[in-house]
Amino acid sequence: MLIRFKQKISFTHPRAYSLLLAFAWTGVIAVSLMASITVHRKEIVTIALNVARAYIDKDILYRNWNALHGGFYVVADKGVPPNPYLPSTVQERDVITPSGRHLTLVNPAYMTRQIYELAQKEHKTSGRITSLKPLRPENKADAWEEAALQDFERGKKEISSIVTEEGFRYMRLIRPLITEESCLPCHLHQGYKKGDIRGGISIKLPMEIFEPVMRKQVRLLLAGHGVMWSLGLIGLYIGYMGLRHRTEERDSAEAELKRVNAILENQATTDSLTGICNRRKFLELLQMKIQETRRYAMPLALIFFDIDHFKSVNDTYGHETGDHVLQELSSIVAGMIRQTDIFARLGGEEFVILMHNNDVKTGCELAEKIRSNVCLHSFPQMGTVTCSFGVSQFYPDDTAESFIKRADNAMYVAKQAGRNRVETL
Ligand code: GH3
Ligand code: MG
Ligand code: MG
Repeated sequence: MLIRFKQKISFTHPRAYSLLLAFAWTGVIAVSLMASITVHRKEIVTIALNVARAYIDKDILYRNWNALHGGFYVVADKGVPPNPYLPSTVQERDVITPSGRHLTLVNPAYMTRQIYELAQKEHKTSGRITSLKPLRPENKADAWEEAALQDFERGKKEISSIVTEEGFRYMRLIRPLITEESCLPCHLHQGYKKGDIRGGISIKLPMEIFEPVMRKQVRLLLAGHGVMWSLGLIGLYIGYMGLRHRTEERDSAEAELKRVNAILENQATTDSLTGICNRRKFLELLQMKIQETRRYAMPLALIFFDIDHFKSVNDTYGHETGDHVLQELSSIVAGMIRQTDIFARLGGEEFVILMHNNDVKTGCELAEKIRSNVCLHSFPQMGTVTCSFGVSQFYPDDTAESFIKRADNAMYVAKQAGRNRVETL
């Protein structure tokens, strides 16, 4: 009886399996890292946008305050010369105080420009007011601002984007400048009325301000993901070692099982005394050979032989000697047949030889050769034995039983005819 190996282990290749997992884990970490960096980049852009908005909000507030009070006077000097773009309708642009100081009127646009020039020197952040129809030619909108101003005409309230100029990245933000009552003294002559979009207030914030924060975040993300990745790989390696150990155990158990099965198989099909095929195996092989014979129309011969008066061998020399005779006889016969012949002990002192692709004539010839060799052989302790042989050939309407029976009958005829002979029916 064979033992069936029922235990199922799904991971037949722990190394391939673990490598696959390691790649998958690396992929997950890489995707997570990229996604986190992308999120942080977006956050930085949002922060930059909010900073730019705060700038503009404050600027608009100051401008409104200035406009509300009709501008303010400052001491005119090289840094603040009288504003040449104030229209002539604005009276008292320049005044001289009783003590003789020269004061000049600073309107919102002039104030904004002054402040942005100062900011650019100090923070590299630049801003300005701009228009499609500027009073001051330098305030003419650039391409980005022009597109934004046109979008304001279509109803947009704010435009922002990250732009790269001369290798540097900037957050650009622009909001529309809407004509208020207080703006009209300077801009009425251009044809603007209250509520018109007169231009925009535009700001350009260098992104490098945020880069140290970004770099720090990226370093933290890299370190965190690196630790997670390493821990995952260590876990995988430990799992791999365990799996490999279990697989090795399973493989050696399988090998042992195969070895035991082979022994059991051998025991189930081999005659334990002589080492040749037993009856069970012979009948199994006979069925196969009969099928081949039928399919390819080849002859098949069977020699059936039995030791003569073997009972008296046992009775005279003992059962053990009888066993030795059976063993030695088997090895003599085994040495005389072809590799393709099937030699088996059917039981007791009865043997068969199945001769594939041989007819009854060659069967008789081989039987005769064996008979004469055996009867001339001297067996230790007891001398000689003889055998009687019956030979049959397979006929198309034969069964395994009828085929064996005819050889057995022929052997019986040989017994009747005086033993130590070969007969066929
Ligand atoms: P015959 O010529 O008519 O065949 O006479 P025989 O004595 O050989 O036939 P019989 O059937 O009367 O006896 C067969 C004997 O074979 C009986 C038994 O003791 C012996 N025998 C069968 N199997 C074994 C075995 O495995 N070992 C030994 N030593 N003897 C066996
Ligand atoms: Mg006998
Ligand atoms: Mg017998």
